[in-house]
Amino acid sequence: MPRCKTVLSLNSGDSEGDTLIDQNARPQITVYSLGGTIASTKSGGVTGGVTPQLSAADLIAAVPELRDVADVTAVTFRQMPSGDLTMADLVALARAIEQSFDTGTDGVVVTQGTDTIEETAFALDLLVRSSRPVVVTGAMRNSTVASPDGSANVLSSVRVAASHDAMGLGTLVVINDEIHAARFVRKTHTSNLATFHSPSCGPLGWLVERRARVVLRVAPLADFGRVPEGDAPAIALIKCSLGDDARVLDQLASLGYAGLVVEGFGGGHVPARVVASLEKLAARMPVVLASRTGSGELLNETYGFPGSERDLLSRGLISAGVLDGPKSRVLLSLIMLTDAEPTHARALFETVAASMHSNDVTQQR
Ligand code: ASP
Repeated sequence: MPRCKTVLSLNSGDSEGDTLIDQNARPQITVYSLGGTIASTKSGGVTGGVTPQLSAADLIAAVPELRDVADVTAVTFRQMPSGDLTMADLVALARAIEQSFDTGTDGVVVTQGTDTIEETAFALDLLVRSSRPVVVTGAMRNSTVASPDGSANVLSSVRVAASHDAMGLGTLVVINDEIHAARFVRKTHTSNLATFHSPSCGPLGWLVERRARVVLRVAPLADFGRVPEGDAPAIALIKCSLGDDARVLDQLASLGYAGLVVEGFGGGHVPARVVASLEKLAARMPVVLASRTGSGELLNETYGFPGSERDLLSRGLISAGVLDGPKSRVLLSLIMLTDAEPTHARALFETVAASMHSNDVTQQR
């Protein structure tokens, strides 16, 4: 029996059309597990400590309440600490997610390590074209300690993935009873359960009793073409710090980097002594200017000193807009995997970055 009905879309450029979850049918949810703390348990190895070992089926079996929410299919897609995931893994995962949507899945949950969720969720946001919900979650406490949070996060995530209100929001991160947009969320604490925050705008909603509440909606992301499978070109991410002359910048091209994201101070500033190196690099590869503050939009037209945002943007650097350094790097990597021509990469980056805060419906997928 079909679980999703296809409806005529007024504003979607999506070839499969917008789909609505049939609210009368039992939701079909697919859970892909990638490893991380949520899947970790004692290894018995010589070094001690926990390692990712639990399968997607194990994670689902630990949450009997799921039976009241949805039919869940479990897929163990990878088994690793999240810092070992690559862009190629995410492109492959996005393909698998799209195929599961094509065969009747209403919503997807991805479980993984929390360390890189802010990057992986944003990559999926850029890669998956369906308007059906994709939710990424994890756990801060592994299954061997008191009050592990993995099961509650899986249950909440399946509830959100099965919710009609989560349609069209892009990829979401659901953790600690909050619903965050992939493009804004950041991990902010090494161990606290309330580690995930969206400093620029707050969460889009929350879980209460058995319901997913969505109170804010994000602008649709601009499309930049179909990303091919394979390894993304190397993109460096460099953070400015006081007194550093960033001499590593002059080595980047010879090291094989194809692009750079530089996290400047404040509104987008670097020491005057590194401006010449950045300008030289920007003439041969895309160089994105983000802020190391982790919140707010890059300035555009305020300061005029050497190394200011005005100075750097006039020398060919690309504004990250509302994106932080790691998310800018994800976007630049996927763009360069799609179209490595530096001038195209620049235009595509600017279009997608602008769509984060645009309500122009013509940009919708
Ligand atoms: N500490 C991490 C986690 O929260 C480990 C990882 O990201 O894989 O899952």
